[in-house]
Amino acid sequence: MYSILNKVIIFSAPSGSGKTTVVNHLLSVMPELGFSVSATTRKPRPHEQNGREYYFLDENDFKKKVENNEFLESEEVYTGILYGTLNSEVQRLWDLGKTVIFDVDVAGGVRIKQKFGDNALSIFLRPPSIEILMERLKKRSTEVEHQMQMRIDKAQYELNFENQYDIVLINDKLEETLAKAEEIVKNFINS
Ligand code: ADP
Ligand code: 5GP
Repeated sequence: MYSILNKVIIFSAPSGSGKTTVVNHLLSVMPELGFSVSATTRKPRPHEQNGREYYFLDENDFKKKVENNEFLESEEVYTGILYGTLNSEVQRLWDLGKTVIFDVDVAGGVRIKQKFGDNALSIFLRPPSIEILMERLKKRSTEVEHQMQMRIDKAQYELNFENQYDIVLINDKLEETLAKAEEIVKNFINS
């Protein structure tokens, strides 16, 4: 299916754990990484652009692509909201010579790791506690109240997945997390 097989890095965690913050930092200091832009049926947030944070698709288009086997993995992460990684996106980044970095939910992360095996490093980013996770989600304030509750409810369940990951990184002090993430990813790429 893929013309070349390169390394991939998977970051996964409950919403609000700090994936976007860590992944954006890594992208800013490591030009060899390429962010896998997922497809989703959720509406763009005010600052988001199609093709940068996500490919924003309507539900029909998304489902057609599922039927045509165009996704590496896809999932209804929240009720009625679909997310998925297109095979074409991974190939696009590999063709540019990039190591692909994914920001996906915990189940998607496990599936991608299964597909790529030793070519993949999966990192579970854990908040120091569920209370701190709730504070960070509230501070980010990108969700309306019922969506926030949905994310918090799901987080409790998602925290059970950490033992299916290669590495668990606790995101307490941000500077320390960023430094550790950089070290882990560089070691894997150079191994
Ligand atoms: P995710 O992508 O996992 O949903 P974000 O990267 O959007 O999470 O982080 C959620 C919020 O928490 C953001 O407002 C971010 O600035 C903040 N944040 C991330 N890491 C830390 C940290 N170590 N300490 C305090 N705030 C943090
Ligand atoms: P958000 O709506 O906050 O951007 O993302 C919600 C959740 O969907 C996050 O946990 C994010 O990692 C996850 N997600 C984003 N893209 C994908 C994807 O392609 N596949 C899967 N399984 N989850 C994704």
